[in-house]
Order: sequence, then C-alpha cells, then structure tokens
Amino acid sequence: MSLVPCLSCERPVSTLATACPACGAPVLDDAPGCLSVVLGIAYAGLLLLGLGVGLLFLVALVAVVL
Ligand SMILES: [Zn+2]
Repeated sequence: MSLVPCLSCERPVSTLATACPACGAPVLDDAPGCLSVVLGIAYAGLLLLGLGVGLLFLVALVAVVL
C-alpha cells in the first residue's frame, strides 16, 4: 500500500482506495493500468499481424492451387 496525491485536492490518498476520502475524486493507480493497456495493444497487434500473415498465406496457397 502506498499513498499518492489526489489528482483533485492533492491530499495523500491510499492507492487501495477507489476514491479520495476528502473530495471524492476517483483515485487512478495508472501505472499498472497503462502497462496492461500497452500489453493489450501489443497483443492485439501481434494477433492482427498473425491473422494478416495467415490470410496472406491462405490467399497465396489458393492462388498457387487454382
Ligand atoms: Zn481529493
């Protein structure tokens, strides 16, 4: 558990809290969130790349066979 300054009133708020007890602003523990978003985008990109290569391979195979 650590304390981060509230984005709204800058009072120290626990990262375990979902909202600032003083002003009620939502507490954003954004470091892991950013990481998961980046990982998600990277994973989606790899998935799309794999899908694109697979599709290209399929088209090439069909073109060779026909
Ligand atoms: Zn606050």
